[in-house]
Amino acid sequence: MSTKTANAEAASHESMFEAVLARLDVAAKLMNLSDDVKTILKNPVKQVQASLPVLMDNGKVQVFEGYRVVHSVAVGPSKGGIRYAMDVNQDEVMALAAWMTFKCAVANLPYGGAKGGIKCDPRAMSVGELERLSRSYVRAMKDVFGVNKDIPAPDMGTSGREMAWMLDEFNRITGEDSPGVITGKPIALGGSLGRDAATGRGVMVNSLEALKKLGLNPKDITAVVQGFGNVGSHAARLLSEKGVKIVGIGDHTASFYNENGIDIKAAIEYAAKNKNTLKGFTGATEIPSGQLLISKCDLLVPAALQNVINEDNAAKIQAKLIVEGANGPTIPEADHVLNERKIIVVPDILANSGGVTVSYFEWVQNKAGYYWTEQEVNLKHDHKMEEAFGNVWANADKFKTSMRIAAYITALQKIELAVKLKGNY
Ligand code: GLU
Repeated sequence: MSTKTANAEAASHESMFEAVLARLDVAAKLMNLSDDVKTILKNPVKQVQASLPVLMDNGKVQVFEGYRVVHSVAVGPSKGGIRYAMDVNQDEVMALAAWMTFKCAVANLPYGGAKGGIKCDPRAMSVGELERLSRSYVRAMKDVFGVNKDIPAPDMGTSGREMAWMLDEFNRITGEDSPGVITGKPIALGGSLGRDAATGRGVMVNSLEALKKLGLNPKDITAVVQGFGNVGSHAARLLSEKGVKIVGIGDHTASFYNENGIDIKAAIEYAAKNKNTLKGFTGATEIPSGQLLISKCDLLVPAALQNVINEDNAAKIQAKLIVEGANGPTIPEADHVLNERKIIVVPDILANSGGVTVSYFEWVQNKAGYYWTEQEVNLKHDHKMEEAFGNVWANADKFKTSMRIAAYITALQKIELAVKLKGNY
């Protein structure tokens, strides 16, 4: 089957989870995945929805919606972050949980996939409210989480701070100290060196691997990075340290372009002093946010939200390489346009798997009670990413398909084997 036919089948879908299944179907057909395994993967293992009452600073109780979806435990305990955002809903969490299953398998980690979320606007809440909300979530999910069961981590809108509260709440409930039940913790509580920058680092390593395949020298290329949070800022910094000229950056407050290159260190320092936002940065010209993705560059790193690359802007993107730092930045219809235009896309489940890879290292260190140096973590991370990239590249070649479908195939090969070895029940 040609790439064109394959991706044409991943047709339009309202639901994010259906968009994941559409890509799963394309990969399944190409690799001849067993129907039983496909059926199992189309249905998450467990879905928990809870009402979370929180005493707000105004003295009133507000009830928040909390979700945790365990998509698969075929390969090992489920792993995946918890996001705080207003658009969190069951369908989105299901899609993100499924992506975690595939992401962990692509990175060759001994994990299944899960995701959690709370529908809230963390920017509009006080620190005290956020702490009470995080603890309330853990109380609701105490039977889901476990060091060998389901291991959460940060995602959009959460960080080490929320993980610390959650770990403390879990330990109080169980009466035991289980640092490995949650990853992305502060270092003082058993976090891993290198975890904070890991997703951005993975984006950098995947970008360099792809550039190598394309015969391009990082020192000769320009990049645009959309999103300046944990993933985008570290990716931009690490890419610029490798000699890539970052010409465009942006976040939810403002976007900027400078054909001579942006001083990323200065941008990071500016954001740190400006409530973690770029609005008002003077190291480049401000441009309309819609312009950023279609600005002139060789490498485009969408590292903000999902569904930002659609059929319209996909036709106008000037980059020859896209490395997806965010989860789900490209809708399936845009895949087709990008493939037609021969733009190489290193897909999210490979490109942003550096974060969960170092989460895995954190979990291993917690289990062993022995901690590695940052250099050890980075070396092991880079090696794992290079291997994962190589496996996906080889499958793209073998199955004559896009890197995205090849990443699904790489993951499904591992998951299918695990499901079959476990036998029937
Ligand atoms: N939330 C991150 C992701 O989407 C990290 C997950 C983890 O470390 O478990 O990959």
